[in-house]
Amino acid sequence: MSISVSNISKSYKDQNALLNISFEIKQGEIVGFLGPNGAGKSTMMKILTTYLKPSEGSASVSGFDIDTQATAVQKSVGYLPEHNPLYVEMYVREYLTFNAQVYKIPKTRIEDVIKLTGLSSEAHKKINQLSKGYQQRVGLACALLHDPEVLILDEPTTGLDPNQLVEIRELIKTIGKQKTVFLSTHIMQEVEAMCDRVIIINKGTIVADKNLNSLIEENDQIVEVEFDYRIEEAFLLKLPNTVNVKNIHGFVYQITFNTATDMRPKVFDFAHDHELKILQLSRKNKDLESLFRELTNPSKP
Ligand code: ADP
Repeated sequence: MSISVSNISKSYKDQNALLNISFEIKQGEIVGFLGPNGAGKSTMMKILTTYLKPSEGSASVSGFDIDTQATAVQKSVGYLPEHNPLYVEMYVREYLTFNAQVYKIPKTRIEDVIKLTGLSSEAHKKINQLSKGYQQRVGLACALLHDPEVLILDEPTTGLDPNQLVEIRELIKTIGKQKTVFLSTHIMQEVEAMCDRVIIINKGTIVADKNLNSLIEENDQIVEVEFDYRIEEAFLLKLPNTVNVKNIHGFVYQITFNTATDMRPKVFDFAHDHELKILQLSRKNKDLESLFRELTNPSKP
């Protein structure tokens, strides 16, 4: 197991932030830690990176105990905190060199992470000259410097514009091919875009732990499709088994079908027959959205 958490609780004075949390993450998994603000995500991540001690329970990362083998845990973990603490007056390469020196990491690794995180064209710039998306890349590069087995990313996409968001998601997915990734978010779509599995937390308690594939409902599916120009919803309702068509933004539509058969080929053929150009086509996990709302609904007791 890359991460193993057993009955962790944490309170800040009289505030209970985590209550008896247990889960395991296998090597190579990309797991989303999803929950509303204040659910306890950052607290859990800080415990796993040894920044905080739990009030009760135990955990290990790469087989090392967070309490008795904290240094080994730190060597195994790359951490991107929620508020990426960068020295913005430094140049990118200078900042990475500084961090590499602090942790006695060979210089050759700096160029490796610059390449891996797509920073080659920006490495000579000052951090405060970079966009938020590129600043996140610097944070990721820094977290990757010591080539950790596990990456813990606290809200890595918060504050990014839609283009930057897509780029960082792709980067995290690429990195996730070689490492275990545990990332937190309060946005359900982030999990769908990046993760194999989701752990949902609410008020300090785990309320769901599921593989994303198992969340696809048997008889109801949503296909998200982007065209290159506006199409009338009524026109798309001509597709077979259609329950609903929603224009979510721009030329992106979500079409709900009441069939278990994968409808993507049908949408593709329909577009082709009517000379519509598809820019993107994907199947969505309808259930994750409803599950998240149901499990974390603040109006519920
Ligand atoms: P999330 O990351 O899901 O937004 P946090 O782990 O930051 O949640 O916070 C969980 C709960 O613990 C919240 O109610 C928050 O107000 C509280 N909390 C977090 N940090 C502290 C702290 N240093 N002192 C007191 N309460 C805290």
